[in-house]
Amino acid sequence: MSDTCGRCGRRLKNPAYIEIGFGRTCAAKMGIALPSKRKPKDKPDRQDHDQEPAPAAEGR
Ligand SMILES: [Zn+2]
Repeated sequence: MSDTCGRCGRRLKNPAYIEIGFGRTCAAKMGIALPSKRKPKDKPDRQDHDQEPAPAAEGR
């Protein structure tokens, strides 16, 4: 683990970027995603189905 960017050699201040070894710009250019602490937000696609529907016994 180094405190310089592995691409441009810039000094890294953010420990998150030091951890990945690249600065923010270089990481973005190389397609490296930050190990974000925040969990990704759940997509609000269950608005109208708040409760799970009971398994309806159709037929039989
Ligand atoms: Zn860099």
